[in-house]
Amino acid sequence: MTEKLYYIDAYIKEFDATVVSVEQNEKGYDIVLDKTAFFPEGGGQYSDKGFIDDAEIYDVQETDGIMHHYSKTPINVNKCVHCVIDFDERFDKMQQHTAEHIISGLFHSIYGVENTGFHLGAETVTLDTSRPVTKEELATVERLVNIAIQKNVKVSASFPSQDVLHTLDYRSKLDLKENVRIVDIEGYDSCACCAPHVNTTGEIGLLKFVCAVKHKGGSRITMLAGMRAYDYVNTISCEASAISVMLSAPADEISTEVQKLLNSRDELSYKLSSVGKEMAELIAGSIAPTDKNTVLHYSALDYDALRCLMNLVKEKVGGILVGIVGDEGNYRYILMSERADFADIVKSANSALSGRGGGRAPMASGTFSATEQEIKKYFKNI
Ligand SMILES: [Zn+2]
Repeated sequence: MTEKLYYIDAYIKEFDATVVSVEQNEKGYDIVLDKTAFFPEGGGQYSDKGFIDDAEIYDVQETDGIMHHYSKTPINVNKCVHCVIDFDERFDKMQQHTAEHIISGLFHSIYGVENTGFHLGAETVTLDTSRPVTKEELATVERLVNIAIQKNVKVSASFPSQDVLHTLDYRSKLDLKENVRIVDIEGYDSCACCAPHVNTTGEIGLLKFVCAVKHKGGSRITMLAGMRAYDYVNTISCEASAISVMLSAPADEISTEVQKLLNSRDELSYKLSSVGKEMAELIAGSIAPTDKNTVLHYSALDYDALRCLMNLVKEKVGGILVGIVGDEGNYRYILMSERADFADIVKSANSALSGRGGGRAPMASGTFSATEQEIKKYFKNI
């Protein structure tokens, strides 16, 4: 069994140990020490990283009480080595994990909602609940957790004897019988857990919920603690400030201003559509009857107005009627014709004008990657 130094002190950043064995396998070198402060992957969180002498450790796994440290660099057996943990990353995990215990403890005690899953990743931290949680419950728990952080209460861990364990009221996902480690957060939570935690809740710094989505009959809550929470809040705050300057509105009122903008955009869009239809009617009156193929292009008309215009003039045009809208070299088209070889007309036009699209007679639509001049020239000559 490897001696677990993180149970003596979760803040050990460096330690000396003796190499018990080294085995080469598909993962590189599997190094076993007599003792370690590296916390392995488990309980929903990824393993610690760091160095054993010059060998970089990228993964740590526990099997039957033996810790396997994985490296791409070999190390000599029986050697006394100096080990260094990436403690910034470890401390961040201690913050996330301790925050999760307070959250789960509060959901349990206030709402009778249980934690059914926890994932502590390098990018995101999520916890799952036994039933869907409401926006109000999330807001209440988030606030209470931040109060618990400010109260700076003690976090302690112990391995109670079987006799004592029976008398304790604690949360546990598994039905553990032996060597149960209880992590107690004074006044907030008691939970069976093997992971390292911060000593006092103040060290968590800050908690922020990012979102909650439905998941397996409950909710999956995305949470951030410590600097992850600060960085997130800071990013959101900078975005809000930038929008606030653009709208000349206080940062805490930008959603009202954005709603006003959206309403006025909808109104403008409605007006634009009416103006387009009126313009289509005016233009339609000015088009003289013809038997020739006709290409219509009016920069003031959008796609819907163009279609309206084409429906108004299609009886006046005996040849193929084409409408284009868009930018030079990249036009959307509408093609109308009553001719029996409609499918061939569309196919040939697409082929000649680098086009895509089709439709059922008497109307087709698509795009031409050609200039207005090329399009007009093509339809003049067929
Ligand atoms: Zn835990």
